[in-house]
Amino acid sequence: ASGSNLIRATLFPGDGIGPEIAQSVKQVFRVAEVPIEWEEHFVGTEIDPRTQSFLTWESLESVRRNKVGLKGPMATPIGKGHRSLNLTLRKELNLYANVRPCYSLPGYKTKYDDVDLITIRENTEGEYSGLEHQVVRGVVESLKIITRQASLRVAEYAFHYAKTHGRERVSAIHKANIMQKTDGLFLKCCREVAEKYPEIVYEEVVIDNCCMMLVKNPSLFDVLVMPNLYGDIISDLCAGLIGGLGLTPSCNIGEGGIALAEAVHGSAPDIAGKNLANPTALLLSAVTMLRHLDLHDKADKIQDAVLKTIAEGKYRTGDLGGKSTTTDFTKAICDHL
Ligand code: NAD
Repeated sequence: ASGSNLIRATLFPGDGIGPEIAQSVKQVFRVAEVPIEWEEHFVGTEIDPRTQSFLTWESLESVRRNKVGLKGPMATPIGKGHRSLNLTLRKELNLYANVRPCYSLPGYKTKYDDVDLITIRENTEGEYSGLEHQVVRGVVESLKIITRQASLRVAEYAFHYAKTHGRERVSAIHKANIMQKTDGLFLKCCREVAEKYPEIVYEEVVIDNCCMMLVKNPSLFDVLVMPNLYGDIISDLCAGLIGGLGLTPSCNIGEGGIALAEAVHGSAPDIAGKNLANPTALLLSAVTMLRHLDLHDKADKIQDAVLKTIAEGKYRTGDLGGKSTTTDFTKAICDHL
């Protein structure tokens, strides 16, 4: 029953391990008494002509209406005549920024103990504009698009995020020494926004140097903002610093304040349906969604329970070297709540 204090959020369980890890999120939210009512949407079995994709118009409307959602991994069916599901979501909902918090999980040892950074990736343009063609045989061209509007929008989001999350520094990652016009414009926009946030330290770091610094000492960074391609690469590099894709959450920010959180990993067809998947990435993505809704108490509570369960080491899924099933691991988290 829908109470008046419940916030409606769209849930796409997705494919492969998606439904199993989504089940885990629903269970944890129930035990933690999170005031969310899920509106579940499934990927269709035929193409919806209104979206040119297996995602229905109603699903997209649900996200537009609720403005918050959680998405499991989606495997795009192979074949012609339809758009990739993830691309459909990104384009239709204008998901312009991808935000990935990356922090060391206490008790899960990697080469680094002190990672605590946020990557913010411009998600709509750059080299991923899809504008490639052949000039003459043996010569192809790809257009990198950088606009003032998209750059200002993502920079504004990064500084606002830093300010509202108690962060001290924003680093713009670029290669403007070579890409003078495109990355140059991106930097110019970041500088303009930085002037409005004098309390936040602003710096510019060349992408190659940034990679070297990240693997040498990730604690040199706080919030990183960058164009699409660099963001794609750097955000995966950062996921690797803390233990891989099974642990890394993300959240997509769209026009009009939409937040669609999602795990970074795919549908893991090799372990789907076997109760072996690690729900951590989707759970921590759900936590970013709660933070977007300013439900910080619930977010802290769930995050603590997940981290405690992993740190104790008694219940861990196979990807973390343990023997637990998805349901046992989830139950252990609920016991911590
Ligand atoms: P994948 O992330 O699904 O799997 C890579 C490896 O990591 C596999 O061995 C898998 O078992 C393991 N793994 C991933 N998530 C795990 C988890 N939560 N717990 C335990 N182990 C986990 O990548 P892939 O195999 O390249 O892609 C499979 C499908 O997923 C493809 O159809 C791809 O298009 C899709 N995909 C979707 C998204 C998305 O929806 N955002 C992202 C990436 C891939």
